[in-house]
Amino acid sequence: SAIVQAYCEKTRTSAKLAEEARRSIAGGVTHDSRYLEPHGIYVERAAGSRKWDVDGNEYVDYSGGHGALLLGHNHPQVVEAVQRQLALGTHYGSSHELEIRWAELVRDMVPSAESVRFTSSGTEATLLALRLARAFTRRTKLVRFVGHFHGWHDHMAFGVGSRFDGSASPGVLAEVASNVRLAPAGDTRGTEQVLDRDDVAAVIIEPTGASWGQLPVLKEFLVELRRMTAEREIVLIFDEVITGFRCSPGGAQQVFGVTPDMTTLAKILAGGLPGGAVAGKQEIMELLDHRAAVDLGSEKISHHGTFNANPLSAAAGVEALRIVSETDACERASTYAQRLREALNEVCQEESVSWTVYGTFSGFHIYTNPEGQAVAREQLDAGSYDPMVLKARPRPKLLMKLRAGMLLHGVEIFVWPGGPTSCVHTDEDLALTVEI
Ligand code: PLP
Repeated sequence: SAIVQAYCEKTRTSAKLAEEARRSIAGGVTHDSRYLEPHGIYVERAAGSRKWDVDGNEYVDYSGGHGALLLGHNHPQVVEAVQRQLALGTHYGSSHELEIRWAELVRDMVPSAESVRFTSSGTEATLLALRLARAFTRRTKLVRFVGHFHGWHDHMAFGVGSRFDGSASPGVLAEVASNVRLAPAGDTRGTEQVLDRDDVAAVIIEPTGASWGQLPVLKEFLVELRRMTAEREIVLIFDEVITGFRCSPGGAQQVFGVTPDMTTLAKILAGGLPGGAVAGKQEIMELLDHRAAVDLGSEKISHHGTFNANPLSAAAGVEALRIVSETDACERASTYAQRLREALNEVCQEESVSWTVYGTFSGFHIYTNPEGQAVAREQLDAGSYDPMVLKARPRPKLLMKLRAGMLLHGVEIFVWPGGPTSCVHTDEDLALTVEI
């Protein structure tokens, strides 16, 4: 199409690099959601709410470091903290004080966090949390919700993307998949039936809803889920990799007033550098403790990781969490997102387009309504619609055109399509996005 052609002309150096990448990087990209046809942009630098590609084009950024950059790119205080640490060493392979300060901040901010263990990513965090829950309960079955994303390890590599029926991704053992049950989020009775079918070790949920709130769940469901899991002594895990330090300084659990047994964290946690964490009840977390595990008569849970609590990530994380806890960063990002959602919906109305822009907190989702059905915004916000319909992503060609069209005029959206917002997006960013 003309849009894609114009985009290709504007991003010639990126096109060349994408061609080179294909020769040495599997599939040409290092994260599935960075894939764009005919090619994505290659970024040279970023600052605040903007980034610049290798062809010198400037973009308003709504990929937000996959959600890690609530404070925007290169927040000066975070950069300074990392530079200070850089001069002192990048990786000790020993304990260091900053990791304690980092864990203290998590404990202070996140209601369920009695104790913390750092990992290198969100995927590792959910993997460890699920292992801990199984060891603690001495049960095997895990329950997750259709469409909710918890990283890419074997236990969670289905029920999401195109695999809503729970069939395992190629390469995942059927035995692994068979130990994980899919439940319908938002449906208390349906979920209760799944919980009663087996001896369940853990339930894991994205507390604002599937895939970063694309299929929202309401507070009432979380309250019911807390009740149902407590009654059955099932470990309730809130996966706050995206919502943690974003919905509020204490995450979604603080906003909704529902405290899980365990929480998984990443993204904003490490201030834009790699890092993750599991936090939770002392009695569960102490299965990681060499001494306490022996006292409990159980074997210690194995957990390693070369770069866990890496000093650079810890330095960035400490600074970022301080800013989040001491300023109105979460609120500013949420207010911007709300204004953006409203302004984009006005455009859809003016142009008589049957799309809807929705979402909660500091995120927006563009529902391109592939079936052309009447779906009211209120329905989307309340999660009262057929998730299979909504989850039908825009047809690949439309999604490609939408993203390329936005890039062509200077805005990068995330693959949802939509994106997380930051506390440094400006009125000018908003006006430009709406215009485009
Ligand atoms: N859980 C949720 C809710 C996520 O959004 C993500 C990443 O997007 C993950 C887990 C996986 O985190 P990571 O990409 O750091 O492995």
